[in-house]
Amino acid sequence: MANKDDSFVVFDKVQKSYDGLSLVVKNLNLNIKKGEFLTMLGPSGSGKTTCLLMLAGFETATHGEILLDGKPINNIPPHKRGIGMVFQNYALFPHMTVGENLSFPLEVRKIDKNERETKVINALEMVQMSEFINRKPAQLSGGQQQRIALARSLVFNPDLVLMDEPLGALDKLLREHMQYEIKNLHRELGVTVVYVTHDQSEALTMSDRVAVFNDGQIQQLSTPDGLYENPENAFVAQFIGENNKLVGKVKKDNKTEVLVRVSKDIEVNAMKVNCEGEGSSTTLSIRPERIHLNSKYKNKVNATVKHLIYHGDHIRCQIQLDKDNDFIVKIPNSNIKNNLKVGEKISISWDTKDCHALDA
Ligand code: ADP
Ligand code: MG
Repeated sequence: MANKDDSFVVFDKVQKSYDGLSLVVKNLNLNIKKGEFLTMLGPSGSGKTTCLLMLAGFETATHGEILLDGKPINNIPPHKRGIGMVFQNYALFPHMTVGENLSFPLEVRKIDKNERETKVINALEMVQMSEFINRKPAQLSGGQQQRIALARSLVFNPDLVLMDEPLGALDKLLREHMQYEIKNLHRELGVTVVYVTHDQSEALTMSDRVAVFNDGQIQQLSTPDGLYENPENAFVAQFIGENNKLVGKVKKDNKTEVLVRVSKDIEVNAMKVNCEGEGSSTTLSIRPERIHLNSKYKNKVNATVKHLIYHGDHIRCQIQLDKDNDFIVKIPNSNIKNNLKVGEKISISWDTKDCHALDA
């Protein structure tokens, strides 16, 4: 259950249905700490935007309660919640200059002219856009417009800023640069950020914690390294980072480890993370960089090299274990002693602690 005391934002058993039939958000419990950078990450349609809209006040929860700084906000209109927002399609006002766009949220809050001017200048400095104060949005690039949108969300010093895929329309280089800028602003201002993205690398690089969404539910809430190192279910293992999976049945169960039979030729040990006992189905998860091209470890499998792709710092090697199972192995460039060849038969192995037995 959500602990309501130390949290800045609390979703307490929140449900949402748009049509009165199906739930697009199912019994959501989530506590967000003051000053935290929390990301909701998940595939399209998993309910992320709906959660953000309920927090912002543009949608109402069908059940449950949302608290901000200890107080229920279900009946407070959006502009009285004191929340800054940057949405991909929450565009700048095209007929207003940059300065007027930034001044607008301050006018709504009845802040007097002198103070408005100071705040607008400070906000523009913050995103290094001071010289653009008299431009119209159409005279700015996509990245510049997004910086102004960011400045506008922060100009009235909100305690909480919501960002819904704010960098989705930008190209890769600019996106990475803006990720860095948003992260810096978060650090400098100490503002609480709830960020939505479907891009796992964006989520992992920016966040203190990530809530992985699927099908209207949080699958796992953890730090970025927690999600990668200790996925709690097969969905998270597959969604975060690269993953190799094997499906099999538990043959022996000693509570911390299980012996899993994948096929007549493949039997391996795994950490028992999220599977039932003997006879039950499980999905094994192993990261590509944890597989060794030798027989050093107890879990050994024969494979054939299918593809080799040179990536500079590492070689990506696709190998076939049997007709149903392919793996990706990442080999650090410095470790490649004898040249692998496509078609070559090899033996791979991995440490039991690097293999997690998850739900089927
Ligand atoms: P995400 O942001 O993770 O892509 P959304 O919260 O936008 O997910 O959508 C969750 C589900 O709710 C989807 O199935 C979507 O089609 C549905 N949905 C979103 N907005 C509406 C709406 N205004 N009316 C009806 N259904 C909606
Ligand atoms: Mg969305």
